[in-house]
Amino acid sequence: MQSTNDNGQRKRLLTGDRPTGRLHLGHYVGSLANRVRLQEEYECYFLLADYQALGDHIDEIDRIRDSVIQVTLDWLAVGLDPERSSFVIQSAVPEHAELHMLFTMLVSVPRLERNPTLKAEMANLGKRENISVGFMAYPVSQAADILLPKAHIVPVGEDQMPHIEMTREIARKFNRVYGEVFPVPDGMVGTVPRLVGTDGQAKMSKSLGNCIYLSDDEAAVTAKVRTMYTDPTRIHPTDPGHVEGNPVFMYHDAFNSDKAEVEDLKERYRAGRVGDVEVKQKLVRALNEFLDPIRERRSYFEQHMDEVKHALLAGTARGKKVAEATMAEVRAAMRIASYID
Ligand code: ATP
Ligand code: MG
Repeated sequence: MQSTNDNGQRKRLLTGDRPTGRLHLGHYVGSLANRVRLQEEYECYFLLADYQALGDHIDEIDRIRDSVIQVTLDWLAVGLDPERSSFVIQSAVPEHAELHMLFTMLVSVPRLERNPTLKAEMANLGKRENISVGFMAYPVSQAADILLPKAHIVPVGEDQMPHIEMTREIARKFNRVYGEVFPVPDGMVGTVPRLVGTDGQAKMSKSLGNCIYLSDDEAAVTAKVRTMYTDPTRIHPTDPGHVEGNPVFMYHDAFNSDKAEVEDLKERYRAGRVGDVEVKQKLVRALNEFLDPIRERRSYFEQHMDEVKHALLAGTARGKKVAEATMAEVRAAMRIASYID
């Protein structure tokens, strides 16, 4: 099935990741699974948001450079197809910066400060002096990323939904002030809108160090699950345990394809008839089963780096073309850059 617009063209999808490290299980359930599923239906643009990564990594260019490749390998490993979809390096398409700058004029400072995700991330950065103008404006840069290819749909984790709301406001405001250019896009949250971290924190996140990576080997997965946070009220395996809110069971729900096993474990856990060790061993097995095909594809592409580079070059070239077309429309609608005919 394909989603088309009034001209019979496939509708567009944009989403992306910051190249600040490898991708983890939270990325998968929050966004990657939807990307894989929607590749046929939509014309997809997947962005390596390296400009955005600078927001809190100004002096870590080596890490950003390496992560561009690592994230691309993760994308290929989960089954994003660079022939059908475009992998775009943000800084190689400076139109992203141009549209971002123009959009900053359409958003008030208090509106930005009300964004709950941004508020929480700014609090994590500590002192206000640590927060750059660029970091604070990143939700606006995301609006530019989404609207540059005129995307209709944006598969993201729940933490990004306030940014999608802001993007919708920006699209409407631009269209109202300068004339109709942009569609008003919809966000699409994955089966697990926000996967908890192995430490029980609300979000598995690269910057919190509580991740199981898609590229982790069996030993790493075993070690991480062994020290995973479970039910803090339970001391002995014979104590009745809590399943709800227990990260180990949240991961079972998300990744264990043997649903009967999960139900059996839950029942026994509630009744105090199974220890954390068995529940965790079964989780390790389920995670390795889930990750094995991903690891295999990753290993293929690690040995075929020419294909990885080609994917980035070809995708970025397609992204650049689409970006140039939209920016020409934007400049015409705003009647700027054309003062002398
Ligand atoms: P950082 O900590 O550096 O911000 P991150 O782990 O939040 O990294 P991003 O690159 O910011 O990763 O996020 C990319 C996409 O993955 C976004 O759509 C985000 O909502 C989604 N995502 C990230 N972590 C999770 C999670 N734990 N659960 C669901 N979705 C997630
Ligand atoms: Mg993030």
